[in-house]
Amino acid sequence: MKRAIYPGSFDPATFGHIDMIERSAQIVDELVVAVLINSAKNPLFSVQERVSMLEEITGHIPNIRITSFNGLLIDYAREADASIIVRGLRAVTDFEYELQIAQTNRIVNSRIDTVFLTTSLEYAYLSSTIVKEVASYGGDISHFVPEQLIDRIYAKYS
Ligand code: ADP
Repeated sequence: MKRAIYPGSFDPATFGHIDMIERSAQIVDELVVAVLINSAKNPLFSVQERVSMLEEITGHIPNIRITSFNGLLIDYAREADASIIVRGLRAVTDFEYELQIAQTNRIVNSRIDTVFLTTSLEYAYLSSTIVKEVASYGGDISHFVPEQLIDRIYAKYS
């Protein structure tokens, strides 16, 4: 049983995240999408809201589970019995940080490997930060997030 963890803030989830989830789920037997509980980041959505939004927009994928976690990812991966961590790479700017984290995690636990998927070109520019920026000015976010999430995102700025 090959189980992977795809961790992130998902504040909110975007088409880029969904693309990553769909592609990773095809590679492994089970994909655990794990929302990071990180109060320091001052998120727009609560962890509960992010988990339920992810559940709604990934209902079509059978072999995934949405969870949340606190503390170190590498510890959570071991607890969840996952041997793979999935991360996405959009640009060179992602690479330096991700490389450092992946190498650190491998020193802490050499049985867990990080696998990187390169972004699909159509979502290379897309981040949760961009979505929030555009939504905060009332701009059109329909190219960035699934329809079910649009009103919930605008509501945070009304
Ligand atoms: P974090 O705060 O951990 O970076 P995010 O929710 O921003 O959380 O991202 C979670 C993961 O999804 C990261 O590995 C990030 O690189 C990846 N990701 C985000 N947006 C995209 C995208 N448009 N294409 C590919 N990967 C993406």
